[in-house]
Amino acid sequence: MSAILTYALHYEGEFNKNSLGAVSEASKLAGELGGEAAVVVVGDPGELTDDLCKSLGKYGAKKVYRAEAPEGLAQPVVDAMAKVIQDEGFKYALFGGGLLGFEIGAGLTARLNAGVTMEVTEVKVQDGKLVAVRPVLQDSAIVDVEYVGEPGIIIGRLNAFDTNESGDGDAEVVDVDLQLEEHSTRAKMVKRGEQRGADVNIEDADLLVAGGRGLGKAEGFELCEQLAEALGGAVAATRAVVDAGWYPYAAQIGQTGKTVAPKLYLAAGISGAIQHKVGMQSSENIVAINKDPNAPIFEFSDLGIVGDLNKILPKLTEAVKAKKGG
Ligand SMILES: Cc1cc2nc3c(=O)[nH]c(=O)nc-3n(C[C@H](O)[C@H](O)[C@H](O)COP(=O)(O)OP(=O)(O)OC[C@H]3O[C@@H](n4cnc5c(N)ncnc54)[C@H](O)[C@@H]3O)c2cc1C
Repeated sequence: MSAILTYALHYEGEFNKNSLGAVSEASKLAGELGGEAAVVVVGDPGELTDDLCKSLGKYGAKKVYRAEAPEGLAQPVVDAMAKVIQDEGFKYALFGGGLLGFEIGAGLTARLNAGVTMEVTEVKVQDGKLVAVRPVLQDSAIVDVEYVGEPGIIIGRLNAFDTNESGDGDAEVVDVDLQLEEHSTRAKMVKRGEQRGADVNIEDADLLVAGGRGLGKAEGFELCEQLAEALGGAVAATRAVVDAGWYPYAAQIGQTGKTVAPKLYLAAGISGAIQHKVGMQSSENIVAINKDPNAPIFEFSDLGIVGDLNKILPKLTEAVKAKKGG
């Protein structure tokens, strides 16, 4: 049974972590439904080689539907997924979140007149159907969402689904003969934006050192960069400092920035406003440095350090370097 279809974004011969999380989650759930998970990939056939497509089998995908169309744009993917869902009868489509996932999921929902749930943090199987779990009212309550018809579209929070190499062989590659809708050919990828201020994508980094207004000035970010470099992580920021021009927007975490879930989130000089919290609260370990013992960030930190970041950050960097050097 064709149960769950997902989409995998690739760039320079690699699938992105968020997509692989969605493929892993779809495979696990499809198994519980007694069906199969499949993946749509869209792009240049020269880049989407057989070996690359088959490798999605490692994450549990049974089939990979490969369509030749411009990559990195939502509408061609909507065309490809709508065709595969209609031809093969998939019951659900699942996405790992991220801007492209949101755009494709929304487009697919409109195209197929489907039901959609966004910001999903967990998916369960109940009575042979999928139930999407999502926080609402600024994360103060959690609701279960069931689908009354098919297909059901599920859009996860960024990195909500863990990657899991549970597959036991290559996926079968099926080429899709795709006719793009006329409106899907109107947008062109002119240039892929370079992320400034960090060589690592903060959404993929396992270790993040985030700076806020407590850094005092733009140059204060050097303290975060030094620690991030010593740890092998990346630098993130609050909206207050991004708005002040101290750090690039690409590094902003929160309601109007990115959502991250690294293994370690170290917050330096960040008060912990709700709009910041919603973007980082799923981090595995939260460590906060703040000179104010009553700062809200301590309420959701695993470890709190009350003190001046100008003294603590350099000492931490030294300690990490010494430990690594030793
Ligand atoms: C609609 C809307 C959307 C928003 N979206 C976002 C968003 O996406 N992301 C986001 O981050 N914010 C967002 N905000 C802004 C948010 O409300 C806060 O204003 C912002 O997060 C505060 O940033 P901050 O923690 O850097 O600064 P502050 O709140 O000013 O906190 C600075 C902290 O540094 C501490 N500090 C000062 N000096 C030192 C020192 N020497 N050593 C140690 N600690 C020190 C202070 O005690 C304080 O707790 C949004 C707001 C609105 C209204």
